[in-house]
Amino acid sequence: MATTEIEKHGFQAEVRQLLDIVIHSLYTDKEIFVRELVSNAADSLEKLRLKQLTENSVYDADLPLEISITTDEEKNTLTIADHGIGMTRAELTENLGTIAHSGTKAFLEQLKEKGDNNADVIGQFGVGFYSAFMGSDEVEVHTHSWDAEAGESLVWTSDGATGYTIEESSDVARGARIVLKLKEGQEEFAKAERIKEILEKYSNFVSFPINLNGERVNKVEALWLKSKNDITTEEYSEFYKFVGHAWDEPRYTMHFSADAPLAINSLLFVPQENQEQFGMGQMEAGVSLYCRKVLIDAKPKNLLPEWLRFLKGVIDSEDLPLNISRETMQDSALIQKLNKLITKRFLKFLEKQAKDDSEKYEEFYAKFSRFLKEGIATSFEHQAQLANLLRFESTMTDAGKVTSFADYIDRAKEDQEAIYFLVGASRDVIENGPYLEAFKARGIEVAIFTDTVDQYVFDTMPEFKGKKLISADRADIELDDVATEGEALDEKSLEALTGWMAEALGDRVEKVAAGKRLVDSPVAALAPQDAPNAQMRSMMKAMGQEIPEAKIVLEVNPRSEVIKNLAALKGKDGELADLVAQQLTDNALLAAGMIDNPQNMVNRMNDLLAKLVK
Ligand code: ADP
Ligand code: MG
Repeated sequence: MATTEIEKHGFQAEVRQLLDIVIHSLYTDKEIFVRELVSNAADSLEKLRLKQLTENSVYDADLPLEISITTDEEKNTLTIADHGIGMTRAELTENLGTIAHSGTKAFLEQLKEKGDNNADVIGQFGVGFYSAFMGSDEVEVHTHSWDAEAGESLVWTSDGATGYTIEESSDVARGARIVLKLKEGQEEFAKAERIKEILEKYSNFVSFPINLNGERVNKVEALWLKSKNDITTEEYSEFYKFVGHAWDEPRYTMHFSADAPLAINSLLFVPQENQEQFGMGQMEAGVSLYCRKVLIDAKPKNLLPEWLRFLKGVIDSEDLPLNISRETMQDSALIQKLNKLITKRFLKFLEKQAKDDSEKYEEFYAKFSRFLKEGIATSFEHQAQLANLLRFESTMTDAGKVTSFADYIDRAKEDQEAIYFLVGASRDVIENGPYLEAFKARGIEVAIFTDTVDQYVFDTMPEFKGKKLISADRADIELDDVATEGEALDEKSLEALTGWMAEALGDRVEKVAAGKRLVDSPVAALAPQDAPNAQMRSMMKAMGQEIPEAKIVLEVNPRSEVIKNLAALKGKDGELADLVAQQLTDNALLAAGMIDNPQNMVNRMNDLLAKLVK
């Protein structure tokens, strides 16, 4: 006689680690496991609905697309059942024995490093199926796949500790029936009233009927199709938590409908936190695509640009064909149109938020600016709108206060044709560097950027509203004459000096030029056109790229005492003059953060000192 075989499996190490966190550190809001299991049941039903459109034969084809929940106080169990796609033997192992999401893995590593089990972060992340073990000693999954050929009646059992078993069963209906054997102390989840209370919070957003002990509890409702005036803040918040698997409140809510050029109903949320800031790796797209309330794709890749991956929510368009597949979606002109339209709308929405409540916007900006910058660098068509959303300090703001390019232009003199900026490690470093003095002397504002990605961003953005964006360390900047103190070296001596310096410095410089920009400093290292400046060099270095030799335009200040004296010295003591010229060059490079090998400089300084103290 054939005995049914019990397959034993161990959990993947990451799963054990996750289970350990789930079981031991989530004391608050235990009820989220109900939401997770109901949402899995709903996902599975959505998938079945699509299968019915594309497959000829589906196992148990007549079963209703519903979710049934039963409580049993006597046995202390809670059962959540659906007639969705179910799982095959292989899928059970793959889906309930390993962690597929790379984000979850990264998240676990992060927790390990920090050694903290921050419940909030876990909640935001959504631990999915494994949350079943928060309140249960044992979990059974009875399942049969939709696929008549590959499917079997199976039961998966685990105590959520080390592993699980898979056994053959009999007469399991299509879908999954999850039986939770509740822990002592968790009896509340075996009570119908308590489960009803939990379901009422969000089950109206589930697009399938939910029955609790045989009684219908939800009235399937697509919040995004309702009129704004009929929706309360709480409803928005519950919906956000439902679609975003979130615990927090939405930071921004954008509910928008249009009839032309496309019929769109969309409800988008910005979360409180930027998960990528926690080092969790790149987020997945979080806005689902619907067509007349039917889910087409929960995580569509091209629906919105990648840099909007922090958004959660729903986009519903009646204009989509229901049978659109994920493959055809990729290059559907309609999706591209949707993408463009909603992106523009969202950016407009942010502009309005920035105007209406700048403080709130700046809080958003502090956490999410990297996404906007990524957008500038990758979506040319949205660049102008995105640039308008940038916030930064400048030489005309107090420390800690930010401004925008629009305000910069308002403050600038009418004939100023460019917007000047500098990228550096900090405001302090930039203010103490050699480049601002020329701009200060002329009352020209310089925008200060201190994020490591900024230089890269500006490389992709040549202008804002017709004004060129120019790094203030560029040699080709033409500045007006300005009244400066002190007498300048005469033309002829100046020409002789720069000629002599160019020769003495040889390959170290591309050019030596007398300039108008310096006020206090004797010299400054400017970046020649098309050559990488100091910021780009340090970026290239960080990325392990080969850095070209530092070629600079050395600007000399004809009013500087050192320069005037050097002009006289070169005829008298060539050796000393050469040392001084070389050292001035190093000083300029040092101020620009472009010294690659300080050893030569140290040796020369010693030579100079030796001459001085002779
Ligand atoms: P997620 O829902 O984000 O994919 P979960 O941890 O909630 O992650 O679920 C893991 C996987 O287990 C799902 O992707 C799905 O393949 C499978 N699964 C969970 N619940 C069900 C169910 N009720 N029916 C079919 N498959 C399920
Ligand atoms: Mg899930």
